[in-house]
Amino acid sequence: MHHDVLLLSRIIEYIPVGIVVIKSDSTVYYANLLAEQLFNCARNQLYGKTLEHCVSGFNIHLSWGDILDRIFKGELNEVSVILEPVDRDVLICKLGVFYVGGDENQQNTTIALMFRDITQEEHIAEQIEKKNLEMAKMNSELIRSNAELKKVSEMKSNFLSIASHELKTPLTSIKGYSDIIIDNMKDKIDSGVYRMIESINRAADRLHKVVNSILDVTRIEQKRLRLKPEMLDLKSVAMDCLDELSQFYIKRGIKFRCDFNDNMPLFYGDKMRMQQMFTNLFSNAIKYSPDNSFIDVVLFPENEDRIHLVVKDYGIGIDKSEQKNIFDAFYEIGSAYRHSTDYTKFMGGGSGLGLSIVKGVIERHGGRIWVESDGAKENEFTGSEFHVVLPVQSEISWDDDETKALIIERVEDNEIMDTNEQTDLKPTILFIDSDKEAIEIARMVLEIAFDIIVAETGETGLTLAFEHKPSVILMDSYLPGLDGYRICRILRSQEETRDVPIAFFSAGTQNDAIQKCFASGADDFIVKPFSGRELVDKIWRLLMKKKEEETFK
Ligand code: ADP
Repeated sequence: MHHDVLLLSRIIEYIPVGIVVIKSDSTVYYANLLAEQLFNCARNQLYGKTLEHCVSGFNIHLSWGDILDRIFKGELNEVSVILEPVDRDVLICKLGVFYVGGDENQQNTTIALMFRDITQEEHIAEQIEKKNLEMAKMNSELIRSNAELKKVSEMKSNFLSIASHELKTPLTSIKGYSDIIIDNMKDKIDSGVYRMIESINRAADRLHKVVNSILDVTRIEQKRLRLKPEMLDLKSVAMDCLDELSQFYIKRGIKFRCDFNDNMPLFYGDKMRMQQMFTNLFSNAIKYSPDNSFIDVVLFPENEDRIHLVVKDYGIGIDKSEQKNIFDAFYEIGSAYRHSTDYTKFMGGGSGLGLSIVKGVIERHGGRIWVESDGAKENEFTGSEFHVVLPVQSEISWDDDETKALIIERVEDNEIMDTNEQTDLKPTILFIDSDKEAIEIARMVLEIAFDIIVAETGETGLTLAFEHKPSVILMDSYLPGLDGYRICRILRSQEETRDVPIAFFSAGTQNDAIQKCFASGADDFIVKPFSGRELVDKIWRLLMKKKEEETFK
């Protein structure tokens, strides 16, 4: 028994809670070791004294006297107090209380006060709260700058889209004039000048490609990449792309090793976009590989639902830290110089757009792309492995009502007409366009085979159309005064001009513009910049169509 009491008193003595026992006369009867430390006062100094004498302390609302008073009255069980011991830092404690003994009248009551030091916890809580506040601030800052970034990104996309469309018009002139010179004036001009024109023509083609890539990127960013899906044999699409690129890799001794599975299912996707995917991946593999190396292409069904493509090269490789970035628009690592020969520049400098378009196209088909590489190392060809997984039956979410499919088909239909069917009688073409340069090019190309009349406004166009009854009308959708669509509707509503084939010029292929043009009654659509050949082909096709319709009337 004695042993147990000793044990208990030792526990009370060393327990990490400051215990102070107080009699009903408010004087201290006992204090344990921690209480001594908390009050910074030897216990024999405490005994017989009131708490006010021992340590100055308070609660936000109550003084020591109030606290004890309320404890004795049984109104208070636990409260936070601040202790201010002499010569020591302030402490924050949780003060708990329990009755040790006393009679019913609350005479001779003995209570034990238990001080739990929570200074440290409070301090941490305070820090956490401070950090939380800072984080909340940072968060709102982030939300704001995110919104700003989104706005800037949208502005960038819009700017690129508008700028690219604007570029197409002057490109029409450059491409058109140089086409004409190349096709018709070889013997008439100095060979040096001729070569310069050829180089202008090639530069225009390259710029045209870049402009189209930028338009693709903005379409992807603005989620308006339209697909024209059909059942495709991806093996043959891949082979066609390799054929197209052969002039670039054969001369560098690069060999493609194709391992195409025999049981490849047909893939439901957009042929042109799949060609774009293969061409970009293959040409990157060529571009970043040394001469006389291999490129492996593997195409196999991963299971019933998915097709897997691997394009593996043994070239300069891609650093792990760059592997995510390369799919961003306009991103280039710029390490192509560590290449073996000058041939690496065969495609001109990259624009950093290829992979972002590839990714956009793949994701639009419900697939994904990633790259695996051990990183780019000095004087070592680590190689890169691009993986593409595509769902066989991609749920392409485009609104494929038949009219849209038909319109796009008509726009993309580039089958060349047999121009030998020219008749002796020169058909008349009415041009309604305010773009003088486009008219000039068209005139130069077409004069040999057609009579050309030109109107620079819609109103004059209407007058000339009724006067001359042209065989074909070509007009811009944007005209000063009455716009092209209105003119087209008027022409279609009049007996004399109802059956004249009409084609629109446009600087873009946005669905809206195409739809508007066909809705107003036009037969075809010529995208600027057009080449001389393209223009002739389109006009002949319109004429032949008219002839066919007349035959079947
Ligand atoms: P680019 O027109 O510059 O090739 P891409 O978007 O196609 O633009 O590629 C982005 C960047 O990714 C390239 O500039 C190049 O640094 C890197 N890259 C792409 N393909 C490969 C590859 N097969 N091997 C090494 N680096 C590559």
